[in-house]
Amino acid sequence: MSETTALINIGSLVTNDVELGEGALGLIRDAVVVIEDDRIRWAGPSAEFDFADRVVDLGGRAVLPGFVDSHAHPVFAGDRADEFAARMSGQPYSAGGIRSTVARTRAASDEELSTGLDRLVDEFHRSGVTTFEAKSGYGLTVDDEARALRIAGQRTDEVTFLGAHVVPPEFVDDPDGYVSLVTGPMLDACAPHARWIDVFCDRGAFGADQAREILRAGLEVGLQARVHANQLQPGDGIRVAVEVGAASADHCTHTTDEDLSLLAGSDTVATLLPGAEFSTRSPYPDARRMLDAGVTVALATDCNPGSSFTTSMPFCIALAVRDMGMTPDEAVWSATAGGARALRRDDVGRITPGARADLISLDAPSHIHLAYRPGVDLIDRVWRAPRTPRVTT
Ligand SMILES: [Zn+2]
Repeated sequence: MSETTALINIGSLVTNDVELGEGALGLIRDAVVVIEDDRIRWAGPSAEFDFADRVVDLGGRAVLPGFVDSHAHPVFAGDRADEFAARMSGQPYSAGGIRSTVARTRAASDEELSTGLDRLVDEFHRSGVTTFEAKSGYGLTVDDEARALRIAGQRTDEVTFLGAHVVPPEFVDDPDGYVSLVTGPMLDACAPHARWIDVFCDRGAFGADQAREILRAGLEVGLQARVHANQLQPGDGIRVAVEVGAASADHCTHTTDEDLSLLAGSDTVATLLPGAEFSTRSPYPDARRMLDAGVTVALATDCNPGSSFTTSMPFCIALAVRDMGMTPDEAVWSATAGGARALRRDDVGRITPGARADLISLDAPSHIHLAYRPGVDLIDRVWRAPRTPRVTT
């Protein structure tokens, strides 16, 4: 039999299992979690704890599931600090800035891209993210997109083909020709390395008809859909996401009541990315309105060099609470269980028997401190179950 480890003397434990504890977070005070190999074996009140081979005393700290970051663009070269500074001195944000990262990424070696990704993965882990999604979208040629996905796949199972990020410069006069490339040879080369397909459906990127065509082509070869929707202006992104059964519509900054009722009546999660509004000095999405309309909300970092160069989920939680009308409980749920829902995973984002042993302890007695103490590094320890590499044929 394998050894069991008990994390004892947990001040408050977020399980995200309503059967295990109080409220939507399934909160248990004075709790114990027992880990066996890469799985949670047991979680409950100290008084009911029985036995483990090894014990780790957490001294009253809070424990919660590792964060699940369901939206990130961590494979790229270079940065855009100058563009950020220019924007902060008054220039507007547009989707076109992506092209400068495309030029740098195409020119980079595989090793440079891997090293850059590893640095961000290390940041993710230190900030308590134990599952993250990684998109392509800075190659925009058949070979460069497939390369980005191969590199991403060395670090995560949640790999997303985003050939439809923007139309690259060489197709500016022939955007439909680019859509044909994305749905043809590029998809053929990329699908074996990806689980998801994504489209940036917005001003300056792709229209609703193009987005539908691209997503349907991906669905036909077995990928699942997610959509960059309604970030820069109201539009059709959310409608398209719901139509094709996407796991998530991401950004959702500009939404109508109809958009919200479409989301609420579907399995499509609204993934909110407040790092993007922060870094582009844009109005935040109204999470309160979405939650009140019955929409499932996830929070993610959108880590990318142009519009949200952060790997910090605690920062996103603090923004969501301060500026988007979420309660601390809702924001923590969205950054853990909500992210899992947006990736259609039930083995992460909760601390319940059988789930992966991905969890974090805080230098604080409660998860509320993540928003209450903004900017303070509260991550004490991170437990991450070893990754079983995805088998591709
Ligand atoms: Zn994005």
